[in-house]
Amino acid sequence: MTTKRTPFIAGNWKMYKTIAEARQLVSEMIPSLQGVSGVEKVLCPPFPDLLAVKAILEGTEIGLGAQNMHWESAGAFTGEVSPVMLAELCQYVILGHSERRAYFGETDETVNRKVKAAIAHGLIPIMCIGETLQENEAGTTQQVLEKQIMGGLVDVTLPEATQPGEVNFIVAYEPVWAIGTGKAATSQGANAVVSDIIRPTLAKIFGSQIAEAVRVLYGGSVKASNASEFFKQSDIDGALVGGASLKVEEFAPIVQAAAG
Ligand code: PEP
Repeated sequence: MTTKRTPFIAGNWKMYKTIAEARQLVSEMIPSLQGVSGVEKVLCPPFPDLLAVKAILEGTEIGLGAQNMHWESAGAFTGEVSPVMLAELCQYVILGHSERRAYFGETDETVNRKVKAAIAHGLIPIMCIGETLQENEAGTTQQVLEKQIMGGLVDVTLPEATQPGEVNFIVAYEPVWAIGTGKAATSQGANAVVSDIIRPTLAKIFGSQIAEAVRVLYGGSVKASNASEFFKQSDIDGALVGGASLKVEEFAPIVQAAAG
């Protein structure tokens, strides 16, 4: 069976944009993103912006996501946000971003809890994986990614697909050395990682049909000038975009490039 995976672009705003700034940016983005068909587009602003952005996106085809969450539905977890709360606001959640792994103690085990909780509450996880420069140079990329995928997906049952041939679970391959550095991976190199490591590992867990249906994004210094190279690749289904998602003149051409 050949699976046609719908291209997917998510903007990770990280810890940028106040509510007023978010309103302005989204209002500027809508006209250039709205008419672009054949690609799913999602904005992931910081928590305080979600409600305001949700209101502005109402009636558009632009989705909304969060950048993290706790795995418990409620409880004495000061400073945390639960999947129940997010499910009222958005459809997607980025989990296991390398900045969370590096600065906030996120592990494969916590990512796994979060993936299960997100799915249980109807949120679509965008699970981030990626090797550091040191791991890359030591030639351990394969082991690192396999461990992150296997560890993040222990006992995970994927949700029913809403579209035939699609799965409501997304992987973002983000080599840590490429994030925010301006040094993107080569498109062929990233594609090889997805086709030789990521999909085969997903196939070991879920079988080859599901592994072929999961959207796998590339992330790491994607910008308007290099995006189309990635989207030409057979196994890359879109991008998780950080810095360039904060500028309409960068993000809109990336979305257009993914639409083909
Ligand atoms: C990211 O934050 O997920 C990311 C890929 O950042 P950037 O595009 O800025 O490298």
